[in-house]
Amino acid sequence: MQNNIAKILQDMNMNPADFKGGNLDVFSPIDGHLMGCVLMDTKETVDAKIAAAHNAFQTWRDVPAPQRGELVRLLGEELRTHKDALSALVTAECGKIFEEGKGEVQEMIDICDFAVGLSRQLHGLTIKSERPGHHMREYWQPLGVVGVISAFNFPVAVWAWNATLALISGDTLVWKPSEKTPMVALACQKILDRAIARFGNAPAGLSSVIIGLKDVGEQMVDDQRVSLVSATGSTRMGREVGPRVAARFGKTILELGGNNAMIIAPSADLDMAVPAIVFGAVGTCGQRCTSTRRVIVHESIYDILVPKIKKAYASLRIGNPLANGTLVGPLIDQLSFNAMEKALADAGAEGGVVTGGGRRIIEGCADGYYVNPAIVEMDSQTASMCEETFAPILYIIKYTNFDHAIVTQNAVPQGLSSAVFTTDVREAEQFVSSVGSDCGIANVNIGTSGAEIGGAFGGEKETGGGRESGSDAWKAYCRRMTSTVNYSREMPLAQGIKFDL
Ligand code: NAD
Repeated sequence: MQNNIAKILQDMNMNPADFKGGNLDVFSPIDGHLMGCVLMDTKETVDAKIAAAHNAFQTWRDVPAPQRGELVRLLGEELRTHKDALSALVTAECGKIFEEGKGEVQEMIDICDFAVGLSRQLHGLTIKSERPGHHMREYWQPLGVVGVISAFNFPVAVWAWNATLALISGDTLVWKPSEKTPMVALACQKILDRAIARFGNAPAGLSSVIIGLKDVGEQMVDDQRVSLVSATGSTRMGREVGPRVAARFGKTILELGGNNAMIIAPSADLDMAVPAIVFGAVGTCGQRCTSTRRVIVHESIYDILVPKIKKAYASLRIGNPLANGTLVGPLIDQLSFNAMEKALADAGAEGGVVTGGGRRIIEGCADGYYVNPAIVEMDSQTASMCEETFAPILYIIKYTNFDHAIVTQNAVPQGLSSAVFTTDVREAEQFVSSVGSDCGIANVNIGTSGAEIGGAFGGEKETGGGRESGSDAWKAYCRRMTSTVNYSREMPLAQGIKFDL
């Protein structure tokens, strides 16, 4: 494994020595071995990086947006060149299978392409003025420094979703990655540095990474110079970060926990539903914000669907995520394993019937936390089902009435992703109507997990309300300016007031 890491770093022209001698140990979830020791930032270096980003903003905001897009185009090229090596590093550091690692890097490339096109389309509105001889317009101006906080499970794509839109909008960046995945963050910075070198005239300090525990994140969150904090992680983290940024009137994008359900109606095509459920529940070992955690199935097909899911679970290939054919890799660490065990014990105490669960020892990876994905059959939605346990636990309950199924789906604190499997057009349309799913993502005959970069991504309630990636999510990275121009020779005052001057 250690040789693999050295090779991966070499493939990215990175020096393995840069990842030695620091004070933050990085362990691979694959086999628990020490991958590297990176240097944590101090109060002083965090301050200097924010100051540099703030200075860089003074110049970058004035570079024409299509030129800013050119830098993002070059970033996309560099990512294409280093796709396999970066994907392998993602797998080594966060444990998702190599195909998923490649999928994550592809998302980075896709958002680069999206942002390049967008850099020529940062359109504002023209608005009809009520006053004669006046023009009213809306501009989207650069905002300032964007502070990105990211989670371990999407250790590179979340940065790219934010960084590309911020850069074309005229913003500069400081990124605080998860303390569990600092090496891929440093690799992304190297890749961006290469694009910046080719671009030629970007200001120093345009984008940097700050490494450390939550204290460095807090310092960034509290810094008045950081105009927008885009924070991805647990709801617990969002509860701390949101009010701190609000206290200084900063802006936030919060992308927090999910607790995503699929409703399986009597008319559902089960050949489509079963793979969607299984992939949604066990992909990334249940560690996606969009993982399928609950299945709400009509009572008439319960006895057909559940055996099919169990059969699919029995054939899952669990093991080293770098190995060909593996479908389920490890959990990130022992804490995650403990959380899974506790959730299963709680479910049992609530009357749930548990199939699966428990640790699985994988040859050559004995110190990795591999698990058997679990299915929990419940009579009704219980307290533990309302929590997000970041592990492959799939709760299954029955429903009799479609309206009630929607109520059950919505009756959790989180509101990220949701799906219905049905061939009944009324059910499908009701699900996406104003009285349907209350989530930011509502799919029909597609699972809950993952999302295309073209749409805005995010969720409601305890998921935080933020939106990233496609559609008009770019507007969050801008300052909205309304401008009225009087091209007449009159000075009409508001409310018809006249001064005798
Ligand atoms: P986490 O909340 O433990 O950590 C996320 C990041 O927040 C880390 O970089 C951490 O250092 C930082 N952090 C924690 N407390 C902080 C504070 N007080 N101030 C500043 N920074 C702080 O989450 P995790 O375990 O890395 O990731 C799993 C969670 O992330 C799950 O809940 C998952 O649903 C969520 N997630 C959400 C999305 C989304 O788009 N909605 C995407 C990926 C992950």
